[in-house]
Amino acid sequence: MNKVVLITGATRGIGKQIALTFAKEGYDVALNYIKDGEELNSAVDEVKAFNVECLPIQGDVSKYEDCERMTKEVIEKFERIDVLVNNAGITKDMLLLRMKPEDFSQVIDVNLVGTFNMTKNVSQYMMKQRSGRIISLASVVGISGNAGQANYSASKAGIIGFTKSVAKELASRNILVNAVAPGFIKTNMTEVLKDEVKSSIIDSIPLKREGTAQDVANVIKFLASEDSSYITGQVINIDGGMVM
Ligand code: NAP
Repeated sequence: MNKVVLITGATRGIGKQIALTFAKEGYDVALNYIKDGEELNSAVDEVKAFNVECLPIQGDVSKYEDCERMTKEVIEKFERIDVLVNNAGITKDMLLLRMKPEDFSQVIDVNLVGTFNMTKNVSQYMMKQRSGRIISLASVVGISGNAGQANYSASKAGIIGFTKSVAKELASRNILVNAVAPGFIKTNMTEVLKDEVKSSIIDSIPLKREGTAQDVANVIKFLASEDSSYITGQVINIDGGMVM
């Protein structure tokens, strides 16, 4: 029987690359999406090309009822969840003075509350299994802060505190809980930045390049593997040395 991974926000960007990386390792994939369309269809087809099962599950991670239903759908289909990757995330960048209360709360709701919603539901099944891995996408700005990203940085710092607390709660059930903190990774999220901004960020990175979605997926694959069985409650930066 294949192991099962559930990945939120997995139709594009880092989430899709994580899905393909786990499929290549022989995992069956539960792939969460919000809206269907070409991106979803091609992500599902690409996962299935590795001869594993792919279950698309529709739902908004910021809604608790959606997360409860999605978790049940995955259990009904595969009877277990070995790895949860809390990947879904949004930005609504703005300087504090111009940031509307809803710009703050929407980012917190998707990034941080979404991580709580999925982790709470999935961990109940992992506790019965007495095994599991939960890996959440934080960000280096959750450690260093970033002008124009008070909402996003707060959500990612929250994920770090959440990860460490839940790691302590679930360790006795053999559930390992970690986070990764990517730096500047080439995806739609960073594509919107102006060229001058991009090149000044790249200049500040010791390895002098932006990261790829595969750079992130590789570390998440490690955190799901037996090779990391003595690591819990940690945050691993994937940032070319940007934040030390
Ligand atoms: P992306 O290309 O914008 O993809 C984000 C994914 O999340 C999309 O599939 C999106 O779905 C989904 N999503 C958004 N809101 C959702 C919700 N409420 N429920 C379920 N899914 C939702 O972003 P990315 O660059 O791949 O980032 C992935 C993760 O890495 C995020 O948590 C991000 O904060 C983190 N990260 C990224 C970078 C970077 O440089 N790119 C750096 C640090 C951390 P739709 O396609 O339907 O919108």
